[in-house]
Amino acid sequence: MKNVAIVGCGAYMDTGYGCPGEWRCLKAAALGQGKFEEPVKVVAFHTCHCPGRNTAPNLGMAVKLSEVKPDAVYLSSCLANAKPGCPHSTPLEMAEIITAKTGLPVILGTHDYH
Ligand code: SF4
Repeated sequence: MKNVAIVGCGAYMDTGYGCPGEWRCLKAAALGQGKFEEPVKVVAFHTCHCPGRNTAPNLGMAVKLSEVKPDAVYLSSCLANAKPGCPHSTPLEMAEIITAKTGLPVILGTHDYH
């Protein structure tokens, strides 16, 4: 079973607009639905906070210190598919920064639940 880290958009999560926490991401990961091709183990969950400068450094530290390394990082659907989008960076820009910091592949989105 693969290990993954998930990054959620804190600006969305903290307002509770239909996402009372991270259950959609965790459900999709547990069941292998949405962007997860098979059930995976979530070993890290990072909440991004505007303007997003904490995300790559914190993930980098988590990957460095954790004894359970993630194989990939997933940007949550509320981050990757947001409309209006993040005013600070595009999902692709954030993915490139995270990959440069951690060396891990980044997948845009987690689930298709409504
Ligand atoms: S920087 Fe963008 S992705 Fe991060 S919390 Fe703010 S709006 Fe969400």
